[in-house]
Amino acid sequence: MELPILNREQTPAGGCSKSACGTTTDQMTHLPEAIREKVHNHPCYSEEAHHHYARMHVAVAPACNIQCHYCNRKYDCANESRPGVVSELLSPTQAAKKVLAVASQIPQMTVLGVAGPGDPLANPERTFETFEEIAAKAPDIKLCLSTNGLNLPDNVDRIAALNVDHVTITINCVDPEVGAEIYPWIFWNNRRIRGAKGAKILIRQQQKGLEMLVERGILVKVNSVMIPGVNDAHLKEVSKIVKQKGAFLHNVMPLIAEAEHGTFYGVMGQRSPTASDLQALQDDCSGDMNMMRHCRQCRADAVGLLGEDRGQEFTMDKIEHMEIDFEAAMVKRKQVHDGIEAMRAERKTAQETAQETAPEAILPQGCRPALLAVASKGSGLVNEHFGHAREFLIYEASPAEVRFMGARKVPAYCTGAMECGDGETALDVILDTLSDCEGVISAKVGIDPWAQLEAAGIQPYGEYAMEPIEDAVRAVYGEMIKSGRLESTDAMISQAG
Ligand code: SF4
Repeated sequence: MELPILNREQTPAGGCSKSACGTTTDQMTHLPEAIREKVHNHPCYSEEAHHHYARMHVAVAPACNIQCHYCNRKYDCANESRPGVVSELLSPTQAAKKVLAVASQIPQMTVLGVAGPGDPLANPERTFETFEEIAAKAPDIKLCLSTNGLNLPDNVDRIAALNVDHVTITINCVDPEVGAEIYPWIFWNNRRIRGAKGAKILIRQQQKGLEMLVERGILVKVNSVMIPGVNDAHLKEVSKIVKQKGAFLHNVMPLIAEAEHGTFYGVMGQRSPTASDLQALQDDCSGDMNMMRHCRQCRADAVGLLGEDRGQEFTMDKIEHMEIDFEAAMVKRKQVHDGIEAMRAERKTAQETAQETAPEAILPQGCRPALLAVASKGSGLVNEHFGHAREFLIYEASPAEVRFMGARKVPAYCTGAMECGDGETALDVILDTLSDCEGVISAKVGIDPWAQLEAAGIQPYGEYAMEPIEDAVRAVYGEMIKSGRLESTDAMISQAG
């Protein structure tokens, strides 16, 4: 199936037409209706949905059949998770119980994924039993699977039979020589196979599995870990090939390599990419492929909206004591989902009306784009205090559009009333992380961080609390233009000349 490319249009250097001016790039508009339907409330497959809907992973798959240099399974698998111990491994029955508990308490949870901590298909019985139990008890929850792909072809029919209609394959290379630098070995036909020979088998299985899933109409996302000096120059080729084979979305994630995680790369001092390295590669790949930019590299037992982790509220000892009336929960879930959809529709209409009826909102041509950081804890609103933010959403505003560029994790500046203002180190990290941004929009900012942000050339904006993010970004960009902070591209060219 040939899928249209999302986010293909790059921001023009200047100029805009009335129809495009001030719009938000909508990842969904170009998709066929059937696919839009499938991803509409999926927080990982739809960028817009990730503001509203939550996901959870259950850690039922401990074993793995390959070794990646970025992974240490005493910790979370880096295949779709950030390093950190999985709190508890679950049996399929425990996992189903946990899913029902979370579905009742977090009604906006729409997606259940099995993503480790090993490989779900190296533990097929545990994985499929989990899916069977959940499909029987909570049919409104979408089932997802994330795999390294080695055992994928043998399991595609079972995946399709269980209506698992979103699968992620981690594909870091299409060249066995590159693979040999990432995978020291694979376990195949009861033997350990090392180096390029092993990588060749892995690549073959991944591509075959991808094609088989696509033939069955299952949406496939490909994850790639960007490893500077190892596969960064190669990932554009990966993107092109997986797109040709029918993958729907490509998620290029930064390598996480810290010595304390005990991974090969961590111990060897392999560097991770910077935010701008990652962004540049994602932009490079986006000519051939739909790119995911909102991934949070979640734990294999993550719970909640992307970017938050409520796993500690749902440990098995707590779940054992929870009274779960799932029939009542199903009614509540429907009401909450209907409410979210009504709000999304209302915002869309308001945006369209504003574009049609407020020509003064059209921004002057020729202004250069600017990066703005936003503090949000969900619902697509500016609703987080600067000091409490553990991540900032980065948007690029231009006369033509407001474009989501990614999320950047930071330590919270203020972790409690007593420590507020004591977070100089955290603030240094935040200033560094946002150094390429020209403004930060949050629900509130304290006096001290305000002054330091200004001194660092990052203008704080606190007057857009509870406003939709895109509206706030557009308004701030307009303010920046009016105040003369953004020279036009023409002016920059003539200055340079
Ligand atoms: S790791 Fe990325 S793709 Fe997987 S659940 Fe988290 S955000 Fe979604």
